[in-house]
Amino acid sequence: MAAQETVEHKYVYDFAEGNKDLKDLLGGKGANLAEMTNLGLPVPPGFTITTEACKAYLNTGQEPDGLADQIAAHLESLERGMGRKLGDPDDPLLVSVRSGAKFSMPGMMETVLNVGLNDRSVVGLSAQAGGNDRFAWDSYRRLIQMFGKTVCEVPGEEFEHALDDAKRAKGTKNDLDLDADDLRGLVDAYKKIFAKHTGREFPQEPREQLDLAIRAVFESWNAERAVVYRRQERIPADLGTAVNVVAMVFGNLGSDSGTGVAFTRDPGSGAQGIYGDYLANAQGEDVVAGIRNTVPLQELEQLDKKSYDELLSYMARLEEHYKDLCDIEFTIERGKLWMLQTRVGKRTAAAAFVIAGQLVDEGLIDLDEALHRVNGAQLAQLMFPRFKLDHDFEPVAKGIGASPGAAVGKVVFTSARAVELAAEGEAVILVRRETNPDDLNGMIAAKGILTSRGGKTSHAAVVARGMGKTCVSGADELDVNIPAKKFTVAGQTVNEGDVVSIDGTTGKVYLGEVPVMPSEVVQYFEGSLDPEHIDNPLVRAVHRIMTHADAKRRLRVRTNADTGADAARARRFGAEGIGLCRTEHMFLGDRRELVERLILANTDAEREASLDALLPLQREDFIEIFREMDGLPVTVRLIDPPLHEFLPPLEQLAVNVAVAQERGEDVAKEEALLAAVRRMHEENPMLGLRGVRLGLVIPGLFAMQVRAIAEAAVAVTRAGGSACPEIMVPLVGAVQELETVRAEAEKVIAEVVGDSGVEVLIGTMIEVPRAALTAGQIAEAAQFFSFGTNDLTQMGWGFSRDDVEGAFFWRYLELGIFGISPFESIDREGVGRLVRIAAEEGRAARPDLKLGVCGEHGGDPDSVHFFHEVGLDYVSCSPFRVPVARLEAGRAVLETTGSDSR
Ligand code: ADP
Ligand code: MG
Ligand code: MG
Repeated sequence: MAAQETVEHKYVYDFAEGNKDLKDLLGGKGANLAEMTNLGLPVPPGFTITTEACKAYLNTGQEPDGLADQIAAHLESLERGMGRKLGDPDDPLLVSVRSGAKFSMPGMMETVLNVGLNDRSVVGLSAQAGGNDRFAWDSYRRLIQMFGKTVCEVPGEEFEHALDDAKRAKGTKNDLDLDADDLRGLVDAYKKIFAKHTGREFPQEPREQLDLAIRAVFESWNAERAVVYRRQERIPADLGTAVNVVAMVFGNLGSDSGTGVAFTRDPGSGAQGIYGDYLANAQGEDVVAGIRNTVPLQELEQLDKKSYDELLSYMARLEEHYKDLCDIEFTIERGKLWMLQTRVGKRTAAAAFVIAGQLVDEGLIDLDEALHRVNGAQLAQLMFPRFKLDHDFEPVAKGIGASPGAAVGKVVFTSARAVELAAEGEAVILVRRETNPDDLNGMIAAKGILTSRGGKTSHAAVVARGMGKTCVSGADELDVNIPAKKFTVAGQTVNEGDVVSIDGTTGKVYLGEVPVMPSEVVQYFEGSLDPEHIDNPLVRAVHRIMTHADAKRRLRVRTNADTGADAARARRFGAEGIGLCRTEHMFLGDRRELVERLILANTDAEREASLDALLPLQREDFIEIFREMDGLPVTVRLIDPPLHEFLPPLEQLAVNVAVAQERGEDVAKEEALLAAVRRMHEENPMLGLRGVRLGLVIPGLFAMQVRAIAEAAVAVTRAGGSACPEIMVPLVGAVQELETVRAEAEKVIAEVVGDSGVEVLIGTMIEVPRAALTAGQIAEAAQFFSFGTNDLTQMGWGFSRDDVEGAFFWRYLELGIFGISPFESIDREGVGRLVRIAAEEGRAARPDLKLGVCGEHGGDPDSVHFFHEVGLDYVSCSPFRVPVARLEAGRAVLETTGSDSR
C-alpha cells in the first residue's frame, strides 16, 4: 500500500483500507462501508473511488492518469476474491455502482445495480442461481432500466410504462406474476427504448458499462438539481462525490431472499424499538419505491429468524460503535444477511432531543455531547403548536418546509381575496404558484402560504420567514390554476374556500382541518405542564439538556419586552432581565391625544402641561415592568420612532378636514394637525428626526421619560422590591449627542433618587455605523452598549428592511450574494465587523463597559455563536426565543472548544 502511494496518487481504496473518519475522501457511504467491513460485519466486498478522482475528472473533463489502471487492479482483486469475473458469460460477477458524497445529497445520480449483465451473462447468471431464469431476466431488465435512466438520461416513465404494459398483458398488478418469458420480452422492449433515446444499443461490454456508470456519478455532482440542493443547504460546491463499486448480492432470488431498511430507534419520536421495513423477493429501490407493500421489520422474525437475530445484533453493535441512531440498508440472499449501508440517521427535532437524552442515560455519550447534538432550530420547531396527527390524516403533497408552524385555513388564490376574507375574520391560506412582491398584503393577511414552486430561498420562503409566518413552498404535486381559483392534487380538486392544513416544518399539505395541539415544550417552559406529562420523554430530555446549557453558557440571555405580561412570560422562559423595553407603545391608545398636544404645543407652558400629563402614565408602566423583573436589569429605550408616527395619516386628516369644512364645523384643531403632519413629513423617515435627535430637539421629552423611569424605580424599591433600570439612548452617532442627553438625565436622576439606594445606568444603542466606528469616544459617556443589529444592518447595507425583503432578497439569495438574509442571521464580515470593532474599542476605553445586543439576531442560533465569540455579556430576544438563545449560548461554549457541528 505504502509503495503504491509513492508511485502515483491513490484514487481507489478497498473497503478494508478505509474507515468512518475518511468521509472527505471516501464520501459518507464509502467511509461507513469501510467501517462496517473493519468491524467484521458482512459487507459484500468492493472498493471506493475517491472524491479526489471526481474533482480531477470535473476539472479536466477526463479521468485522471492512473485511475483506469487502479480500477482495473481493484476489480481484479475483487474478481479473485469472489472467484468470478465481471460479466463472465458462464459465471458472472455483477457489481453495483453507487454515488456517495460527504453529505447525503438527493439530486445526484442514484445507484445502478447488476452492472456486468448482458445478453450472454444473463444465461450464466441463471445457471449460477440453479436455473432461475426468472431471476436472471428480472435482474437484466433492472440494469437496462437503471442504467438507461441514471447514466443515459432516458426518461424513466418510458420504462415504467413498458412494465405496466407487460403487467396489463398478463392481467396482473403484481410484478411477481411476470414469469421469465414476460421478463425476457420486457428486456427487448427496454432495449428498444434505450436505443431510441440514446441512438445506440445497450452496451454489452461489462467494463464499458462500469466506466460509463462511474463517469455518470462524477458528472452528477454538477447536475442542476444537485447544484440547487447544495446552494440551499450551504454545502460547499467543490467537495466532489465518491463512487462505490460493490459486489452484488441478490434479494430477488425467491421468497427466502429480500431487502430492507432499519433504524436503531424511531427517527420520528426517538423511541427505542425496532423500526424498519422489509420486502421479500425484491431488489434495492423496491422497498422505498412503494411498488409493493412492505412489511414491518418485526415480521422478519417469522420469515427468517436467523437473519433477524443477526440483524438485531449488528444494529446494537453499530449503535454502540457510532454512539448514535443508525440507519441501515440490508439484503438477504437465500437466508444469508448482507449489510449494504449504514449512517448516522436523520431524525426529527423531537427525536434529536429524546435520543440525546437516552444516550446519556445509557452512558454512551456525556451531556456536552448531548448538547452538541441538538440545536436551537430544533428547539424552536418544538415550540410551535403542531398538528395532532393520527391515521385519519394523510398528506396529499409534500413541499419544502420553508417557515415552521401549523396553519389551517380556507384556500384563497389572490392577495386581494386573502385580505378580504381575513378582514371578515376568516383564517386563510394563500395558495400561489410562486409569490412576488404584489402578494405582500395577502401574505400578511394569511395564516399560511403554500406555493407549488420555489425552494427555501424563494420569495415566499424568505418573506414568510421574515414575518414568522408558516410557509410550505415548492409543493410541486399541486397543479395550481389561479384564474380558475382551484388547484388539483392527487386526483382531487380544491376550490377557493375549501380548508387545507399546512405544516411549515415538514412541508406536508393536508386537505381539511387537522386539529392543532399546543407544544408540550412550551407548556414545560411555562411551568404549566400537568403532572401527567412529567413522564413525557421529550420534556425530560429538553429539561436535562437546557439545564446543562445554562450551566455551560457564559452569555446571559435577556428579553425584549414592553409590558409586564411579556416580561413575566419571558422570565418563565428563563430571561435574566430585559435588554430592550420600547417606550413607543406607551404613547399610543388613549394617550395619543396627549402626544398630539405635545406636538402641537405653541408655548413652553403647553408643552410642559402635556409632558406633565404623560409622566404619571409612563411611571405606572415602568412600575409594572420593574415589579415583574424584580432584581433583574431592565434596559429602557427612550422614545425612538419619528413623532409623526403618532399622528393620523396625512390622507385621512385631509379628508376629515375637507368633510368638516363642508359641514361648516370648526376645524381649527384638525387644520393645525394637518399642518403639523405636512410639516413633519419626511422622505426617509428611517433616516430622519428620530431617536436621540428627538430628545435634542423637543425640550423636556427625554427628561420626562427619565423622571418616570427613576420615580418608578424608587417606588418599587421603597415598596421592598429591587429595580435595576438602565436608560438607553437610541440612534446615537456621536459622543456629543450622548453627552448632552446624559447631562440632563443625570440631573433628573440625582433629584429623584436621593437616598433610595436606586442606581440608574446610562448607556447607548450602537446602531448607526458611525457610532460603531467611534465607539472608543462614545464609551467615555456610556456605561453600556446595546447593539441594535436591525438598524445596524439596514444602515450598514444601506437598505430599508420593509422595502427590500419582498423586493429583491430572493434574487440575492438565488445568486448567492447572501447565503441567508442578513436580517435573519448576522452578516459576520460586514455588520459583524462593526460589532467587533465597537466591542473592542469600547472595552479598551472603559473596561467595565456592559455589552449586549437587542436586535432580532439575539435569538438566531448562528448569531448567538457570533456574539459569544465577540465577547458580549448578553443577548436579548423576544420571549419565545429566550430558550433558543439559552441553548445556543451553551452550545457556543462547546463550539469554541472545538467540534464539527454538521
Ligand atoms: P442511496 O444512496 O439512494 O441509498 P444506494 O447506493 O444505497 O443508494 O443503493 C440503493 C439500494 O440498492 C441499496 O439500499 C441496496 O438495497 C441496493 N444495492 C446497492 N448495492 C447493492 C449490492 N451490491 N447488492 C445488492 N443490493 C445493492
Ligand atoms: Mg442507500
Ligand atoms: Mg433602532
